[in-house]
Amino acid sequence: MSKLSEMSKLSVKDARDESSIGKTTLIQGWVRTRRDSKAGFSFIEINDGSSQGNIQIVAPAELENYESEVKALTAGCSISAEGEIVESGGRGQKTEMQASQVVVHGWADPETYPLQKKRHSFEKLREWAHLRPRTNTFGAVARVRNGICNSIHQFYQERGFLYVHTPVITASDCEGAGEMFQVTTMNLDEIAKNAIENLNYKFDFFDRPSYLTVSGQLSAETYACALGKVYTFGPTFRAENSNTSRHLAEFWMIEPEMAFYDLSDNMDLAEAFIKRIVADSLSQCGEDMEFFNDRIDESHTLLEVLNSLVENEFVRLPYTEAIEILEKSDQKFEFPVQWGVDLQSEHERFLTETHFKNPVILFDYPKRIKPFYMYCNDDDKTVRAMDVLVPNVGEIIGGSQREHRLDVLESRMKDQGLDVGDYWWYTDLRRFGTVPHAGFGLGLERAVQFVTSMGNIRDVIAFPRTPGNAEF
Ligand code: ATP
Ligand code: MN
Repeated sequence: MSKLSEMSKLSVKDARDESSIGKTTLIQGWVRTRRDSKAGFSFIEINDGSSQGNIQIVAPAELENYESEVKALTAGCSISAEGEIVESGGRGQKTEMQASQVVVHGWADPETYPLQKKRHSFEKLREWAHLRPRTNTFGAVARVRNGICNSIHQFYQERGFLYVHTPVITASDCEGAGEMFQVTTMNLDEIAKNAIENLNYKFDFFDRPSYLTVSGQLSAETYACALGKVYTFGPTFRAENSNTSRHLAEFWMIEPEMAFYDLSDNMDLAEAFIKRIVADSLSQCGEDMEFFNDRIDESHTLLEVLNSLVENEFVRLPYTEAIEILEKSDQKFEFPVQWGVDLQSEHERFLTETHFKNPVILFDYPKRIKPFYMYCNDDDKTVRAMDVLVPNVGEIIGGSQREHRLDVLESRMKDQGLDVGDYWWYTDLRRFGTVPHAGFGLGLERAVQFVTSMGNIRDVIAFPRTPGNAEF
């Protein structure tokens, strides 16, 4: 091993490139398959996570551990291989390694290693969430997710936004009660045992009920109203009991917030933002994106849909006109539509997938179904809310222009049964130097779902948290 560890290493990705031909190097990874040739040598395919493709190691019978070890390699074993990268005659690969030494680091008993050659369903792979990143699909998801996160930071940094960190633990409820995870240091077993009915929060850590955040927006507004343009990018928690393919109890959200922005500026930013994420995924994760198009998207139109998104303008449509379209359509909906209802996923998807076949930004929603902080339009019926809808996913972004008029904001809070005093710091922003401002939230996992065409949100995050599931 001493000889090996002194060698320069190449990732499988780099070793697959023609420019590596002629280099003597070290490659390390996990065995996908081994095939023995009648001519007395073996082909070992290995992958190290750096790319979709594997590299083939040609291991000659002369290796000292050929009979004892090389011929016993199976899927999942970890090895280091030293040798020269040469041109390959094999199909689908430009290079291969002619090995002069193979060291086995770890065996993987084929009787018990779950990832055998046969294809497993995504449901089954969720039970092996600790091993699924070793599969083609989950490796590709991890790489594309990483690329998207990189694009997100670049997009905002290039535009002069400051990355701010908002609290994970909060005592304010931004979106409405019932969906929050409570955080406490009180002993629930003791409380239950002693049948305590009225909790005294003086004994809790923060002297008051506190929760995991459902959104960093209210805190982000404080920074936007001082520093202009900011964004947050952090984990968000919602205890909604919805077992859908688009909801997680723990997900990551990017929330830009901008002073001196109105709703139309907000829509421009959201559209540019999604286009950037998609364009970067196409140009920087080409091999993985082809994999998603060919192997995951059932209609094999993913690349076409994404390319067209980058080139075309999003549809922008007031809620009221969307309702008219839905009412006039022949489509049978499970939930009936009429002005004033919250749109269900089936309605959103009809608009973006069937009617417009394009991303759609809906705006000016009924005030009654939206939170207190959204700017009230002059019609006194609608607020300057916007949702961005994309094919296959539905809502990917939700946002609004914020109410910056103190009197209107306070009256909206009272209408919604909130205690204005609890939000004294939030209303202060309107009391001292108030400005029109706006922002939105993009769910990272929904963006990854959209870009990869993965059907279930549980398969685009490493360890999904959903009702009843917190294993790993
Ligand atoms: P939905 O109607 O789909 O439940 P929402 O209207 O509650 O979403 P917002 O409060 O507007 O969502 O949050 C902003 C964005 O965060 C959404 O557009 C979506 O991309 C994402 N998001 C919201 N809830 C979840 C969740 N439970 N799991 C994953 N992403 C979510
Ligand atoms: Mn929303």
